[in-house]
Amino acid sequence: MKYSKLVETYQQLDQTQATLEKTDILAELFKESDEDLEHVVLLALGRIYPEWMEPEIGVSSQTMIDVIHQATGRGKDEIEEVWKEKGDLGFAAEEMVKNKTQQKLMSKTLTVEMVVDRLRKVAEMDKEGLSQSVNQDKKKKEIADLISNAEPVEARYITRTVLNHLRLGIGEGTVRDALDEAFFNGEHSEDIQRAYDFTNDFSRVAKACQEGLEEVNSLDIELFRPIKSMLAKKVDTIEEGFDTVGKPAAIDYKYDGMRAQIHVKDGDVKVFTRRLEDVTKQFPDVVKAVEENVKSENCIIDSEIVGYNPEDGSTIPFQRLSKRIKRKYDIQKLKKEIPVEVRPFDLIYDEESLLNQPYRERWEKLNNSIEEEEKILRSVDHEETSEEEKVQEMQQKSLSDGHEGIMMKSLDAEYKPGSRVGYMVKLKPVMETLDLAIIGAKWSEGRRSGWLGRLYLGCYDEENDEYLEVGRMATGLTDKQFQEITEKLKPLITKEEGRKVEVRPEVIVEAEYEEIQKSPEYTSGYALRFPRMKQFREDKDEADSLEKVKGLYEDQK
Ligand code: AMP
Repeated sequence: MKYSKLVETYQQLDQTQATLEKTDILAELFKESDEDLEHVVLLALGRIYPEWMEPEIGVSSQTMIDVIHQATGRGKDEIEEVWKEKGDLGFAAEEMVKNKTQQKLMSKTLTVEMVVDRLRKVAEMDKEGLSQSVNQDKKKKEIADLISNAEPVEARYITRTVLNHLRLGIGEGTVRDALDEAFFNGEHSEDIQRAYDFTNDFSRVAKACQEGLEEVNSLDIELFRPIKSMLAKKVDTIEEGFDTVGKPAAIDYKYDGMRAQIHVKDGDVKVFTRRLEDVTKQFPDVVKAVEENVKSENCIIDSEIVGYNPEDGSTIPFQRLSKRIKRKYDIQKLKKEIPVEVRPFDLIYDEESLLNQPYRERWEKLNNSIEEEEKILRSVDHEETSEEEKVQEMQQKSLSDGHEGIMMKSLDAEYKPGSRVGYMVKLKPVMETLDLAIIGAKWSEGRRSGWLGRLYLGCYDEENDEYLEVGRMATGLTDKQFQEITEKLKPLITKEEGRKVEVRPEVIVEAEYEEIQKSPEYTSGYALRFPRMKQFREDKDEADSLEKVKGLYEDQK
């Protein structure tokens, strides 16, 4: 398929907000894709590989400016100017290609296959072990070659794909429904969803759809390809918990660690996060623990990896452990600084899929297949009971030991990947507060004029070393506090525009809130609902991280 055909569809998709319309447009495209369908599905999601695969294109906006410059001969300043003006480097690329000063002698018509192949080649370069600058130069050259063959509007979408910024408003559900419409008259979305939950690979599912329903239903678990984790519903009381999961139920401690799906295939081990990222390299200690303490040669274990303080063995919060997830170097050092214990709680596969077996049996098999060793690998603290008092006791013990609360699980239930079905529920105390920096404020009007009122709160994005907005707070403050805040913020003002001021992020406040929502309006992508001031955190000089906000958002679901 010509890339221009896909780009036409991208434009149609960009022009509508309506999900149903998007589904129709995609279904038409899928029907016409024939042997290109696998690639088309991925590109429609703005990807070049299935969700669970590791390689990423790894090119920043700044690098992309160099690429556009190389491909079109236009000045970098010019490119940056259009980028600023239009707010999207895709548009800038389009403009530059329209008026390029360099012409290729023989330009090729781009196909979907060419675009995917080329971008995959770029993503794979990270594996070649080249120095950073050689790696980036090679990447630039490959992408520049694509752009120099592209029509202006094609350059727009190639740029967005490279930067992982396609933003077509197409999620999993839309692709699932479009495949269903294209191949099964909209009658088998559940089968498609199931196949996707098992494979995390829409290109694979799409191919199966072309071959027929039987093929879709034959897709199954494969070792070393993560499946979606089963998620928990939230309950507020033990009674509600029992109502949801039935009696008797399994009660586990809920640890504040990292969900890990551990695959063992012929004795080799891989570790995946809940977002399906392969973090095996970051956790050599987990690999070793599993090699030595898990008996099965072919299995999938669902677990929580919990970090602890090497000095006194006490559990550390996820936020500290999360350092290990992203780290690609100094792994041995970090392993000593932040040691972990693996706490398995479910067994999804043991020489065969156990998904349809009741949890009671999976739990028993799990315990038969591991050898427990303290601070290395131990199944979670677990009881089975019908008594509320007993649950309450466990809950209190869990909290006083520094854990998050408890999980209640149905003993009869199967394992449902990707679903927040009520087979397990979590019971946590009230919402955790966040320590946030004040990054801006607004001069008040009326009675409080002369004081800074509405406060803009920011969390800290460790990756980019900047503060991103997560909410605005005007309540919970007394007059005295408004005055105090004004005094504190005045010397920190860096910019004023109308009534709005920007300030250096040096004042940290502890905020309570109702919940965290996703929000495109705030730079962090998240918004606190009804944030209230609890207290100043004079003792702190750095706000909680974006990672923590994300974690709390995920947790509350
Ligand atoms: P959620 O992810 O929102 O469904 O909430 C449950 C999360 O708590 C899981 O994803 C795990 O990462 C974590 N967790 C901690 N302890 C346990 C446990 N004993 N059983 C299941 N999940 C646990």
